[in-house]
Amino acid sequence: NADAAMYRAKEFGRDNFQFYAPEFNIRTQEKFVLQEELRNGLAHSEFTLLYQPQVDLRSGRIFAVEALIRWKHPMRGMVAPDAFIPTAEETGLIVPIGDWVLHEACRQNKEWQDAGLPPMTVCVNVSARQFREKNLIGRVVDALSASGLEARYLEVEVTESLIMQDIDVAVATMNALQNLGVQISIDDFGTGYSSLSALKTFPVARLKIDKSFINDLATDENDQAVASAVISLGQKLNLRVIAEGVETDDQVAFLRENNCDEMQGYHFSKPISAQDIEKLLGGPKD
Ligand code: C2E
Ligand code: MG
Ligand code: MG
Ligand code: MG
Repeated sequence: NADAAMYRAKEFGRDNFQFYAPEFNIRTQEKFVLQEELRNGLAHSEFTLLYQPQVDLRSGRIFAVEALIRWKHPMRGMVAPDAFIPTAEETGLIVPIGDWVLHEACRQNKEWQDAGLPPMTVCVNVSARQFREKNLIGRVVDALSASGLEARYLEVEVTESLIMQDIDVAVATMNALQNLGVQISIDDFGTGYSSLSALKTFPVARLKIDKSFINDLATDENDQAVASAVISLGQKLNLRVIAEGVETDDQVAFLRENNCDEMQGYHFSKPISAQDIEKLLGGPKD
């Protein structure tokens, strides 16, 4: 609230209030409010997960879904992650929120399996702060044992830039996850700058080509070059490659011609509710 913001301004700026641009104070206040609302939202179960299918480009089979968080805010309606994940990350609230995501995604996947759906992997995004938590491994073990989900049906998505912040620590954590049997993929691949020599030491199963390279894939020669380079890199390093943000027939045709393994995007399905996943995969029950 305003008082707290003013207090902090005083604390940091002493009496030099003019040191802060007015918009800085507004943004700071908004962050305080958002932080309180996030905490409240967590306590009142306002978060939910949507799931976006990932499809094998050769067989057409749905082999995985990515869990994507949404916030059902009582006043603001459905809030997209880009509007609150950065603040959750800054304030550390991403840790309890991320725990909830892990538990809910594992629980839901086990429920689908128990209902007789074909077994799928559930992919969960893990952000930098969460990944650096000392007991991340313990938290993942908790989510698996609470749900009864086998580790091989959980995949953790980390970004290239997260890994590059501290390669040694990241590789150690990824190895520990792999030893549990959890799969790992690199999200938004191509937007960071992992060295190719480091890449081959990462215990990852998949690369996700960032959707910024997929958007104009039909027409932009640079994007075509990047996409096909990532695909052949994956083939050479024995990693599966998935394209994200696939929306059009032309993009699918390019990916097929270039032997991309998998795709995810509005072309096949937007992120949908758990019930809709069940309808999509389960067919009518008697
Ligand atoms: P991401 O992991 O790269 O997820 C892909 C984003 O692209 C999702 O946005 C998805 O809805 C969107 N998308 C998928 N297909 C298409 C398409 O064909 N066209 C377009 N235009 N967009 C498509 P969303 O759900 O808004 O999530 C945004 C980001 O928020 C995610 O990017 C991820 O970094 C983060 N995020 C989402 N859920 C979680 C979570 O549970 N924990 C953490 N730490 N981060 C999350
Ligand atoms: Mg992702
Ligand atoms: Mg991505
Ligand atoms: Mg992204």
